This record gives sequence, structure tokens and C-alpha cells, in this order.
Amino acid sequence: MAVNKVYDMLIIGGGPAGAVAALYGTRAGLSVLVIEKMMLGGEITSTARLDNYPGFPDGVGGSEFGTLLEKQLANLEAPVHIGDIETVKLEGDLKKVSCSSGEFEGKTVLIASGTLPNLLGIDGELELRGRGVSYCATCDAAFFRGKTIVVVGGGDAALEETVFLSRFAEKIYLVHRRDKFRGGSWLQDKVQKLPMVEVLWNTTVSKINGDKKVSSLQIRQNGQERSLEVDGIFIYAGRQPNVPFLAGAALERDEHGYILTNDKMETSIKGVYAAGDVRRKFLRQVITAAADGAIAATAVSQYLYTY
Ligand code: NAP
Repeated sequence: MAVNKVYDMLIIGGGPAGAVAALYGTRAGLSVLVIEKMMLGGEITSTARLDNYPGFPDGVGGSEFGTLLEKQLANLEAPVHIGDIETVKLEGDLKKVSCSSGEFEGKTVLIASGTLPNLLGIDGELELRGRGVSYCATCDAAFFRGKTIVVVGGGDAALEETVFLSRFAEKIYLVHRRDKFRGGSWLQDKVQKLPMVEVLWNTTVSKINGDKKVSSLQIRQNGQERSLEVDGIFIYAGRQPNVPFLAGAALERDEHGYILTNDKMETSIKGVYAAGDVRRKFLRQVITAAADGAIAATAVSQYLYTY
């Protein structure tokens, strides 16, 4: 495929980190290209509400937030290419990013590709995915109106999505492998007030049963195995960096695969930056992703044109 332009900054991912980098980059006079697999907004678009972002006193819907970002980029005429990244060449002065629908060259690359949900890795999980096994409450909650479901996990995502699912499901078992939640206390308070939620502490799911769709789970509670009849299971067992295209790349990452950066979002390879959830960081939130994007674009601008 023909390569026709060398961009100042190729941005992998159009979530808050990538979109804000595009905004700051464009405003700084850089030529930028955002390469996004699906739609702008990233992970937040599959969340019901964003409640902790400044300037939205009543919160904002996740997909609405994505649409607003898209509009903001369109206003600045920041180009967006829809495509799934296959390979990257990060070493040297000319970086290359190849995706299903094109190949692009840039003086710098910003990796802002976010995270993917972890699987539980149990029998029935893959077989019944989309038939009662879900990782996205916003996408699938409506199928479980009046039903009995399980939510797995004890982090912010499990708690937040339990609150959302409580508007649909008649009964929710919140299954957590320990006796203490990891998620924020304000979310814990919200969950504890929901009458249809029963927390199963010290419990794991060992098997998902069903023929055409989920019908029951095999669970282990305090060492005892038993069956639990449910119509669906929503899994929030943490996330992992979404970087399949980095296989074999000599980019420094931590033991979980998150990209290591300094406070200018520079990685171990010159001209390669990382921002948002994909990098090792203390707090993974929309606001910190946006901040990373602003810092990365400013650092790229300095790297290319100041020094
Ligand atoms: P997380 O904080 O890593 O929590 C994952 C949960 O899944 C933990 O409770 C963990 O148990 C459990 N878990 C992991 N592997 C498991 C397994 N194999 N079987 C059963 N349970 C398992 O992940 P997250 O909730 O997806 O959140 C990811 C990041 O996004 C966090 O930084 C979070 O703060 C942020 N986030 C923020 C918000 C918000 O602020 N509103 C919303 C969503 C996400 P243990 O506790 O025992 O480890």
C-alpha cells in the first residue's frame, strides 16, 4: 500500500489519551493522525456514566462523552483513520504503523491503545461468550431485564457495573474471591444499598454451564463447590494492556506488560510515547488519561521543534 505522508505524530488509539493528544498536537501545529479500531472515546464509551470528570456536575453518558470528543476533533480537523493495528516499527527516525486498512509513517508514535478485559480462563467462558457471558454491562444489560445474574470481581469496574445492572436484573450475585473489595468506598456504599445484590465473599466461579445460553455456574465458596442457577455472568476480573502489536518490540514494559514512561510520557525508545491506561501508572481514570495525552503531545512538540 502506498505511503504518502510522514506525520509528526501517529497516535494509536482514540480514547481520552489519544484524542486529547490529537487536540493538543493539532493546536501546536503538529500534523497528527489518530488510528482507532472502533470509535472515538475508547473504553469509556462502553460505560453507562462518567461521574467524576470536571465540568459535568450531573455526570455524562459514556457514549455521549465519546461523541463530544469526536466533535471536538472534527472541529479541529484532526484526521482519524479507522483500522486495527497489525504491526509497528518503532526503532529509528521513521516510525511505521501498519493496520488492516493502510500503512502510515511518522516522526513519532504515541501508543494510547488502552486495556482489554482479562478472561477468567474457565470452562464455558469462551463457548458461551455473547450467550450469557459478557464483559460489558452497557452493551448487554438490557438482555437481562428481570433475570438473575452474577457479576465477578471486586474492583471499581465490578462495583460500578453492578450499580448499572441493578436497573435491569431482578437478582445479582456479586462474586468476589476475597472478603474485601478493592473498589472505591463510595462505590461500595452504593452497592451495599441495593436490595437485589447479594455479595458472595471468598467465592470463585469454576465453570459456566449452558447449552445454547448460560444456565448455571459451578462456584466454590469457602472451599465448598456448589451450583448456582443464573441467566448470565458479567466478568470484571481486571484488565491487561491492549498491545498485541508490540510482540517482539524492544519497548520497556513492567511485569504485567504496561509500558514504562517518564513524566513526559517518553518510553525507552526515542520518539515513542505512551499515554493513558496502557502505561504503568498509579490511577487509571479518564482524567489521568486526558492529562497524559496533553503531556505527550506537548513533549512531542518540544522534541520535534524546540531542541
Ligand atoms: P481491578 O481494579 O484490577 O480489579 C479487578 C478485580 O477482579 C479485583 O477485585 C480482583 O480481585 C478480581 N480478579 C482478578 N482476577 C480474578 C480472577 N481470576 N478471578 C476472580 N476475580 C479476579 O480492575 P477494574 O475494576 O477493571 O479496574 C481497572 C482500572 O480502572 C482500575 O485502576 C480502576 O480504578 C479503574 N476504574 C475506575 C472506575 C471509576 O473510578 N469509576 C471504574 C472502572 C475502572 P482481588 O481484589 O482479589 O485482586
